[in-house]
Amino acid sequence: MVGGVSYDAGMSSARAPMSLLHERVNAWYAEAGRKHLPWREPDCSPWGVFLSEVMSQQTPLARVEPIWREWMERWPTPTDLAAAAPGDAVRAWGRLGYPRRALRLHEAARAMVERHGGRVPDTPEDLLALPGVGAYTAAAVSCFAFGIPEVVVDTNVRRVLARAAEGKALPNVTLNRTEARLAADSMPADRATANTWNVAVMELGALVCVARGPRCDECPVADLCEWNRAGRPAYDGPPRRGQSWHGTDRQVRGELLRRLRDARESLPLSRLEDSTDDRVQVMRCLDSLVADGLVEPLSGSRFRLPA
Ligand code: SF4
Repeated sequence: MVGGVSYDAGMSSARAPMSLLHERVNAWYAEAGRKHLPWREPDCSPWGVFLSEVMSQQTPLARVEPIWREWMERWPTPTDLAAAAPGDAVRAWGRLGYPRRALRLHEAARAMVERHGGRVPDTPEDLLALPGVGAYTAAAVSCFAFGIPEVVVDTNVRRVLARAAEGKALPNVTLNRTEARLAADSMPADRATANTWNVAVMELGALVCVARGPRCDECPVADLCEWNRAGRPAYDGPPRRGQSWHGTDRQVRGELLRRLRDARESLPLSRLEDSTDDRVQVMRCLDSLVADGLVEPLSGSRFRLPA
């Protein structure tokens, strides 16, 4: 409920408060949104938008921007990336994390060449059929590259809606049907407003309605937000997994890839097995990188990035 009127949109009675939310959030974005980001420039190609969406999943935009620029310089179209070796994509991924995304981008670029004449497809269905593209990426690229007002739901959007519309400190651990319906029902009916809303509400979650320490004093919807109006009650849902890093397999995988990337040639096992003190963990991580196609085993216990 907001202002005594349910946010359960889709109902005509909910249109007024939702439209107020749209108006405020979109106006805030016009003032404060990071419109200078290159993939938000009006002349950015669909390929640029596609790259940015894959790179920014699980990686902050500030870290994405320099790598995005390097990729666009080197591979300005899907055809250019498709012609490169997969290992070049992994190498150029740098330290963006979750490097399987580099391989998936490479596979998607090849599929664009084979199925779409080297262009990013312009329908949600064709986007979803590309390797490694999930519902979020298909919706985001449809909206941000082609102006199709799909419902775009990432963790930032989920957090804003959970707080503003549902009065909860945090959304559910995983996206459930009720939450998906709320996001769909929250979409403005008008196409242009909907497309701005998608990026604006996401940006509000990234810059103001952040996970820890939301800046409600600066929020354009502070007086409408259910959670804020209720005195910001503490989270009382199931325990959430921490983002531990040190000593994890993710850290060790990252270190192994870093060594292979920096070497620019194959390395013997002896140059990899001291990546951490736990040799069993090193071998497990090396095996998983090989299984993921991120590392190629060669004869003589040597390893390299995929050729
Ligand atoms: S008032 Fe606070 S909690 Fe509510 S949407 Fe704004 S920043 Fe988030």
